[in-house]
Amino acid sequence: MSRTVYVNGEYLPEEDAKISIFDRSFLMADGVYEVTSVLGRKLIDFDGHLARLERSLTELDMQKPEAFDDLLAIHRKLVELNDIEDGMIYLQVSRGSAGDRDFVFPDSDVVKPTLVLFTQSKPGLADSPAARAGIKVISIDDIRWGRRDIKTVQLLYPSMGKMAAKKAGCDDAWMVEDGFVTEGTSNNAYIVKNGKIITRQLSNDILHGITRAAVLRFAREAQMEVEERPFTIEEAKAADEGFVTSASTFVFPVVEIDGVKLGDGTPGPVAKRLREIYLEESLKSAI
Ligand code: PMP
Repeated sequence: MSRTVYVNGEYLPEEDAKISIFDRSFLMADGVYEVTSVLGRKLIDFDGHLARLERSLTELDMQKPEAFDDLLAIHRKLVELNDIEDGMIYLQVSRGSAGDRDFVFPDSDVVKPTLVLFTQSKPGLADSPAARAGIKVISIDDIRWGRRDIKTVQLLYPSMGKMAAKKAGCDDAWMVEDGFVTEGTSNNAYIVKNGKIITRQLSNDILHGITRAAVLRFAREAQMEVEERPFTIEEAKAADEGFVTSASTFVFPVVEIDGVKLGDGTPGPVAKRLREIYLEESLKSAI
């Protein structure tokens, strides 16, 4: 069945939705996005995603779309129209189309941003096999640009990283810069050693994960020790356990890095506990 999607103020069947070939997200990756999970027809961490979207737009000097204040209502309407029990809502804002290709930003009084949203139905999203079995990762160099804190649609390298992982019989890649792990291709990365949760501190080097913020808050509330600092891939391989967080996967245990098993090679207790707490608490505040 065809989805109903949202494009610049209109709800349309996906086959009728159109944007210009001159849209700057298409020509220049001049766009930002957010992915919000839906569990039991409710939005998880919506306020966090909205706040980060606003920040991404500000950092790129991009105008807010006219419908910015209606985004919650638009998300809810798409959940309803597409009958989404569990899944994701993808939102993208681009700098719009100036009707030609030009490196220079168009005048924002004339060219309005393009706003697109669509749903992805994922029945049983919170009960995925990867959450139970854990994932295997490889390490790759982090050759991305220096503003990874801005959630741009420039995802070619992360996509290549996933393909390299797949080719190696693994699930994902952790990126390494100057010897230290930055993050996963589409998630934040953590290790656990002697009960302590270690994850890279926030900076322009990583995306400020909305799930990361919530998971670290819940971990501290549960009296778990958290250290925000860089860690090397060698330190990670010698850790007791590892895990990743993102809006669409919540918490996934990491059981192997570059063929080296973490602990006994099965999901660790800290990752399992954090997944439980995150799902429980974020469902309570879902809207
Ligand atoms: N880092 C990167 C590079 C990502 O693409 C994502 C997912 N968008 C994350 C971290 C996790 O962020 P969030 O928890 O907000 O989904």
